Amino acid sequence: MSASARAAVMTGYLEPFEVGPVRMRDPGPGQVLVRTAAAPFCSTDWMGWKAMRRTVPPVVLGHTAVGTVEAVGGDVRHLAPGDRVLVAGTPQCGECFYCRIGRPDQCDLLMGGAPNPVVADLPDGREVRAAGLVGAYSERMLVLGVQTHRLPDDLPFDAACLLGCGISSALGAVENIAHVQPGQSVAIVGLGHIGLWAVQGARLAGAGEIIGVDGHPGRRALAESMGATRLVDPTAGDPVDAVRALTEGRGADVVIEAAGPEVAQRQAVLMSRRAGTVVLMGVQHATSEVILPQGLLTTTGREIHGCQNGRVTPDVDFPRWIGYLRDGRLDPSGFVTRRYDLDEADQALRRSMALEDVTGVFAIGG
Ligand SMILES: [Zn+2]
Ligand SMILES: [Zn+2]
Repeated sequence: MSASARAAVMTGYLEPFEVGPVRMRDPGPGQVLVRTAAAPFCSTDWMGWKAMRRTVPPVVLGHTAVGTVEAVGGDVRHLAPGDRVLVAGTPQCGECFYCRIGRPDQCDLLMGGAPNPVVADLPDGREVRAAGLVGAYSERMLVLGVQTHRLPDDLPFDAACLLGCGISSALGAVENIAHVQPGQSVAIVGLGHIGLWAVQGARLAGAGEIIGVDGHPGRRALAESMGATRLVDPTAGDPVDAVRALTEGRGADVVIEAAGPEVAQRQAVLMSRRAGTVVLMGVQHATSEVILPQGLLTTTGREIHGCQNGRVTPDVDFPRWIGYLRDGRLDPSGFVTRRYDLDEADQALRRSMALEDVTGVFAIGG
């Protein structure tokens, strides 16, 4: 008898979530059934809900979570029932072209264009898919062994659930992509949960100036409390001019964009110095385009990088970032601004869209 689970199912774009029972599929080879403990709400989720991404309902949103293994399918040898685990949105199959060239952030299982997998069925027989291979807004998740990592017993679920999206995207941008060096100036455009973790990451890397750019005064204050040394309000004047003024007219050594709008990405590139490094990770509509001056793209020597989940190599990076959380180098206080039950999924979505939460967390179980 397969397991049932209460889930917040997105059954249509811009429709309220349907919260109720689903019947989970049994774990097949390589799969794991996990009882969800905590899952962060992310702006990616409301973008899917607003049909800005390629999310197809009925679907359970939520692209990372933590919980406890309940059952493992064949071929899963590194996990056993009872293990506390992080379910990452980015799998590491180890076998596809991208995993073999050392770029599991582009693993075919997530990025290869296949539709989201069916993980459960509604009582009326409709199939339910899992957004981002996870489907976290549910008491249970059917996921892959190659995206599931053991957690130490002493790391609280509340903090650990921030690893898979916010911490990995931001710390990965700082450490894996920009390779921020001590003393460098780092501008961070967009101070949502990813931008704020990037502030902490830049501080850990020994950045000189950490310039936080966001139009929301509360977010700027949070960034300052986490290590930002300068703050720029992009609604009060041209943020490109402001960042140049703070960096001897050159522009920042490193710019990390975690905002989304096309204009923010254009500004992020323009506020970097010549031969500087820019990391772009926001996504607005899946079809958005960013227009940049051709001369700047070519002769000024800037390195402009994309960023899928911090260019994470999960089996190498998660143990390091778990260590940062355990020894206090990363501070999760200030992130979890509200906890929700699955019944409150509509409210979590509304508050995320209104920027009222830094990270809303579904506290689902033990
Ligand atoms: Zn996310
Ligand atoms: Zn792969």
